[in-house]
Amino acid sequence: MQKRFSFVFVLSVITAAGIFIFQVYWVYNTFKVGKDNFIRTASNALAKSIDTYEVQQSQLPSSLKYKDPSLSVFMRTYPDRPAPDSILSMMKGAKKTFAVDYKSMVVNPNDLPMVKLMMAHLLSQQLSLPIKVDKLTAIFRSELAKNNINLPFTLRMLTNQTKVPSGQIAVPVSFLKSPTVVVAVLDDTWKLLLAQNLAPAMISFILIILSAGSLFYMGYVIKKQIELDDIKNAFINNITHELRTPVSILKTSNEALTNFGALQDPERADRYLQINSVVLDKLDADIERILEITQYEHGVKLPRYEVLNVKDLIEETLQIFALNEHGVVRFEDGLNDQDVNIDGHIIRTIVFNLVDNALKYANGEVMIVVKTVATDKGWKLLVIDNGKGINKADLPFIFDKFYRIQQENIHDIKGYGLGLSYVKQLVKSLNGTIAVESKIGKGSTFTINLPL
Ligand code: ADP
Repeated sequence: MQKRFSFVFVLSVITAAGIFIFQVYWVYNTFKVGKDNFIRTASNALAKSIDTYEVQQSQLPSSLKYKDPSLSVFMRTYPDRPAPDSILSMMKGAKKTFAVDYKSMVVNPNDLPMVKLMMAHLLSQQLSLPIKVDKLTAIFRSELAKNNINLPFTLRMLTNQTKVPSGQIAVPVSFLKSPTVVVAVLDDTWKLLLAQNLAPAMISFILIILSAGSLFYMGYVIKKQIELDDIKNAFINNITHELRTPVSILKTSNEALTNFGALQDPERADRYLQINSVVLDKLDADIERILEITQYEHGVKLPRYEVLNVKDLIEETLQIFALNEHGVVRFEDGLNDQDVNIDGHIIRTIVFNLVDNALKYANGEVMIVVKTVATDKGWKLLVIDNGKGINKADLPFIFDKFYRIQQENIHDIKGYGLGLSYVKQLVKSLNGTIAVESKIGKGSTFTINLPL
């Protein structure tokens, strides 16, 4: 199961990494395409601005400005034939005249911009006047604004150059004497590109978080499920082991009574019955404990408060351990013999379970201290031992139901992994809190804070 989980985990990490890399690549590509588009749009605007500048700066034939625009084109010249008299009278100073055939061609209004541009092109090439940067700047600014680009920029002329530098907003100009490239340097382009790409980047980031998050949550749920499965198996193992001992004791004493004539010996019969009674009491107490945990958990059973002397209550509970030859249990009363409104059964059960554990998980000579201390909001109960201590990794789980720390001699120490979860449930029913501090080889301290 653990192996399969590791495989699923590795697979989900690879999937999450794959999604992440793909999304980052996709966002990068979108950004790159956006940048290329931006350079293309700005370059087109610059080319259009240069065309507009040419048209504006050139003195185009006035016939193009007529209502019905037209162009006169010389079709043929006759150098030896003088101009007709009607024209000669208008050209009195002329040294030499000659006749021509010309055609006046009407320009279709749709073609007018193109014809104007062609004429401007020809004229500019002929005149080859330098570009007035401020005029071109104004035209370019309005052209950019039409494309919703409102960024500060400067125009630079690269003379003696015909090649457009790659990745730049640049357009070659053909009508100047020396070949020139106009370069536009736009400031803060990254801000514009970022604004354009922010929405897809954010969406993709959220998708990454969602997909990676759900994968990891799935992994977490599976891990918890596996842990529960392990705990369940350990509990079944444990309970079978724990039940076998009393059942075999009962069986043996029953056999002795029925088959080996123990009934005829009243003293032996009485001893066997006493043993049976102790074993049955223990089984009964275990069943009662399992039932009580659920009852307190679901609020079916509530604490029964009464005013009691805590010192007497605890000392009475510790009497059970007085005969224990393995160690010393000391009590320190920090409440000065004070009476407290409390559920006696719960306090007794808590003290019993914690001290019982301290003895079960002892390490050499046992020294257990049970302490009560007055606090601002109530009082606290401490059970301090010098036992085996608890591993840091196990600490968060010891209050879980059926959780037993896996140790070599786990079956030599009796238990269902229910003691601490029972204690925690009881503390909770009193609106208190429980905490533990422990060091391997040094011992553990359980602290229970209770309100007054
Ligand atoms: P059980 O004693 O039946 O195993 P508990 O719920 O009482 O179950 O305790 C859970 C686990 O916490 C135990 O298996 C034991 O390893 C560890 N533990 C509890 N109390 C102590 C203690 N005082 N010192 C060391 N280990 C302890």
